[in-house]
Amino acid sequence: MRVVVIGGGHNGLVAAATLAKAGNKVTVLERRDRFGGVADGGLLHDTETLSADVIRSLELKYHGLELLDPAPVFVPSGEGEGLLLHRDPAQAASELGEDAEAYARWRAWLAKVLPFAKGQLNNATLDVRSSAEKMPLLMAGASFRRLGKKTIHELLRVGPSCVDDYLSEWFESPLLKCALAAPALHGTWMGTRSPTSTATLLLHEAQVGKEVVGGPAALVKALLACCEKAGVELKPNAEVTKIRVESGAAKGVDCADGSTLDADLVLSCVGPRKTLLELVSPDALPISTENHIQKVRLRGTLAKVSLSLTEPIDYACRPGLKPERAFLCEDPLDMERAFDAVKHRRMPTVVPLDVRQSDGAASVLIRCATIELEGGWTDERRAELTELALAGLERYVPNIRAIATATETLTPADIAEVYGLEGGHEMHGELALDQLGPMRPAMALSRYATSIQGLFCGSAGIHPGGGVSGRPGALAGQAIQRSVS
Ligand SMILES: Cc1cc2nc3c(=O)[nH]c(=O)nc-3n(C[C@H](O)[C@H](O)[C@H](O)COP(=O)(O)OP(=O)(O)OC[C@H]3O[C@@H](n4cnc5c(N)ncnc54)[C@H](O)[C@@H]3O)c2cc1C
Repeated sequence: MRVVVIGGGHNGLVAAATLAKAGNKVTVLERRDRFGGVADGGLLHDTETLSADVIRSLELKYHGLELLDPAPVFVPSGEGEGLLLHRDPAQAASELGEDAEAYARWRAWLAKVLPFAKGQLNNATLDVRSSAEKMPLLMAGASFRRLGKKTIHELLRVGPSCVDDYLSEWFESPLLKCALAAPALHGTWMGTRSPTSTATLLLHEAQVGKEVVGGPAALVKALLACCEKAGVELKPNAEVTKIRVESGAAKGVDCADGSTLDADLVLSCVGPRKTLLELVSPDALPISTENHIQKVRLRGTLAKVSLSLTEPIDYACRPGLKPERAFLCEDPLDMERAFDAVKHRRMPTVVPLDVRQSDGAASVLIRCATIELEGGWTDERRAELTELALAGLERYVPNIRAIATATETLTPADIAEVYGLEGGHEMHGELALDQLGPMRPAMALSRYATSIQGLFCGSAGIHPGGGVSGRPGALAGQAIQRSVS
């Protein structure tokens, strides 16, 4: 089969390699002059959600990928010594004081319940209406029941709750609660007091594995090597402007430079909304699909400040530690206050900062800068963000202005433009219970196929969602392969 993949982000590369390895003739068309999408630009702070199944099935270690345990996260404090949090309870114990025993129990509880969630993340969502899928459905049900009545009740109780309440049931230290709550909010439109933020915390925990040595750039390099070995044709500077649909079936694509490419199948690894509302002509799309896809929410809240450093950031509360990763927020309530600004379309005043430093540079992610800012994003507003990052750092690193120079600040609007992300949303669609699993991005599109024959979706906007797991691309590739064999 001739397959055109639109978008050479990491999911597009994973899907292309999966399909080429299965014997298809695959071409990847990428709008930018580089591959890797968001994972290419030095934007990311971690690669710890990369799927072990993807690593195995694409033999990424053979293509140069090396792994290591995720670096611990430091949460500095204005009064005490701060907290250096390792995932491993034994390593974390000396930092946790009275929370050490509860942390070990919590990790043990997660180890019991998360394999079920991992199983769902590694598989395409099940179609409850299909008799062909009775067996996988029964198996999923049986594996859920094996968790036992007590655990199932606990999951049903805590899943809809807010992460602040949930973590307070387990732990005393606000620093620990901040460190654990922060990733629960990635890609969501939630604060620590939002209902269902515990469910997104559990979802995140189910995804965390090893990190890639060399970060996202090393991941993209290994994926490109894998694509080349599998015979994928990689075309940069190739922006697709239209998916050609004839008699209800996708037949190829048109590009911005006037060229066209015929295909038996088209897999779009740009956002599903952009795919169906911009690249497909409206008369080719059933009105019901259009209605569903119009409702997908993707309001970006991420901004990034890049710093060049003359010396490593050294937090005053723990001199000499100079940690690679840090999260600057001492109270889960401050994360909720930061979300209040998002909710009300205001510039934040309380700004939790996610900091990663290495080799004379630091990246600071601000996760409460709304793309919907009242009055829009201007140069003055961009400068305010830079100042918020520096002032936030200064509370814990008094010499920050002497050692750091801000080299670039990207507002959510900049991220939307440079990386072609609709709504500036990092995951092509918010993580929310009604936009997950079979509802991602909408019930009618949940299984990688669309209502147009031969047109599939495979980016972070589809199950199981964003981050650099590679799962949506892999599952889309497998779904296509099943549909043709
Ligand atoms: C600032 C920021 C920080 C982040 N930090 C992390 C992190 O630390 N850890 C983590 O796991 N995740 C992080 N994420 C999220 C993660 O990077 C994304 O969810 C993931 O990379 C999405 O991958 P993708 O392949 O689905 O889509 P993308 O990476 O968006 O790839 C889509 C590709 O399609 C191309 N394209 C778009 N339109 C067209 C067209 N018409 N024709 C041809 N090509 C087109 C784009 O140029 C792009 O290359 C972050 C995101 C952002 C924005």
